[in-house]
Amino acid sequence: MVIEKNKAQHRNKKAHKKKDKKNNLMQTVSKQSIKKLFNHALELAYKDHIDEANKAIKQALRIARKYNIRISKLGSNYKRMYCKKCKTILIPNKTLRVRLHKTRMVYKCLKCGFIMRYPYIKEKSRKEKNKNSQD
Ligand SMILES: [Zn+2]
Repeated sequence: MVIEKNKAQHRNKKAHKKKDKKNNLMQTVSKQSIKKLFNHALELAYKDHIDEANKAIKQALRIARKYNIRISKLGSNYKRMYCKKCKTILIPNKTLRVRLHKTRMVYKCLKCGFIMRYPYIKEKSRKEKNKNSQD
């Protein structure tokens, strides 16, 4: 097997060209670090270190912005983990109040009062399909 070394250190003056393949790798790496930061933030928040958790969230969002990563594409749980307005980590009964309506969930950030509404979807059908194939 031959591993092609290709354009590893290729840099020229036209830096504005789109570097899709390079970005893909960077995106994969940064997606992982974003997830790690979010999970780290959660751990901190549950230990009542909300400020520290918020720093981790902000760091994650900074990486996301730098590499054009949409948090929503990492999964809805990540998207809903922080306040869209003040970027505070959202922990039920600590920084978040959740109310269930018939068809949607209403999240209220207790820090800035921002309200987020999410559709309340039962993810049964998809999960059950996966279950049958395993076991
Ligand atoms: Zn907020």
